[in-house]
Amino acid sequence: MDLSTLRSLFPTLAQSNDGYPLCYLDTAATSQKPQQVIDAMNHYYHHDNANVHRAAHQLSARATSQYEAVRDKLCKFINANRREEIIFTHGTTESINTVANGLTAQIKQGSLILIDSAAHHANIVPWQQLAKRTGAIIKPIPLTADCRLDTAAFDVLLSEKPAVVALSHVSNALGTVNPVKDLVSKANQVGAITLVDGAQAIAHMGVDVQAIGCDFYVFSGHKMYGPTGIGVLYGRFDILDRLSPLITGGEMIKSVSFEVTEFNVLPNRLEAGTPPIAEVIGLGAAIDFIEALPSEQIHAKEQELLNYLQDELKNMGDVVLYGAHTDNLGAVAFNLADEHHQDVGILLDQQGIAVRCGHHCAMPLMQSLGLKGCCRASIGVYTNKDDIDNFIAAMESVKELLL
Ligand code: PMP
Repeated sequence: MDLSTLRSLFPTLAQSNDGYPLCYLDTAATSQKPQQVIDAMNHYYHHDNANVHRAAHQLSARATSQYEAVRDKLCKFINANRREEIIFTHGTTESINTVANGLTAQIKQGSLILIDSAAHHANIVPWQQLAKRTGAIIKPIPLTADCRLDTAAFDVLLSEKPAVVALSHVSNALGTVNPVKDLVSKANQVGAITLVDGAQAIAHMGVDVQAIGCDFYVFSGHKMYGPTGIGVLYGRFDILDRLSPLITGGEMIKSVSFEVTEFNVLPNRLEAGTPPIAEVIGLGAAIDFIEALPSEQIHAKEQELLNYLQDELKNMGDVVLYGAHTDNLGAVAFNLADEHHQDVGILLDQQGIAVRCGHHCAMPLMQSLGLKGCCRASIGVYTNKDDIDNFIAAMESVKELLL
């Protein structure tokens, strides 16, 4: 499959804004969706729409088998040990909340929770709430001056025997990659529960949760060419089975009386209420899409484009890059001299360039960089060299205008 064919599978990309071809460099916020994902969801609504798990009729049986088939697909996709280890949520945020809330009874006053300093708010706030409920203590794992996780400081913090270690796999704000296999292995040695936020990794690399060795791995469908409103919580069976449910009600029970409720077994116990069925089916189509790609070729092409993007920005002068390394994935963070990131974003948008500006839901990281915010350009499988060249040309004109 050549790149132009691949790009043509994404209908949103074939548009112009104010005469400029759309140059979508905001994939880290949400990816565009290939036609087959849109078609799979439409097909469900046109032909198979019914609630899952409940009715005796054929429509429901078809909806249920498609829904459950995606669980099997995900199990293989991330190499989980068994299908019950895959829980459908509405996104990474809900997945982390499910874990942090579900651990409440297991966390004691004074227990230590270590958090990646570059974490997205979704991997900070639920832990803070857990600490508030339990009296646990939160400590951030510092970064080095070049914005990598400080592994020496991590080792020192591990000697304090943390109860939980919450890591990002790839930083959404910077694109830096954590060596999660090594970090998790060290955390496992001191008996910590480990969670890896894979929201920015899952679309850019193969993920093998057993090889990483983490207890929990979480991600969102919409960042991997699937729909919004669907997320995944992977948990190692025995520890997942010990989480108390965040949401209770229908579907997650075995029996209910006014006196007592017996919860269902996994995975249903953690999937209360009617799930996002069409979105699960859309996610299944996104996995099919990813699996049909020549992964090595795609990853190499993405890496080449990201490095080209970093180099072009560096060569422009007057652009400051944050945490830019050749092994980063998917995103580059920058500012144009002292100009406000929002001004730069708006001027780029006037030339059809979509980038993200702000704190990227990583305010503590921005504070440690001494910034209120920055711009972020991020790429996906459909990004090509023209996108980067158009972006750099637009940056040159913004620079001319502002500096
Ligand atoms: N973690 C990371 C690293 C992310 O990039 C995001 C999305 N920006 C989230 C968590 C939250 O994902 P969602 O909004 O899909 O729940």
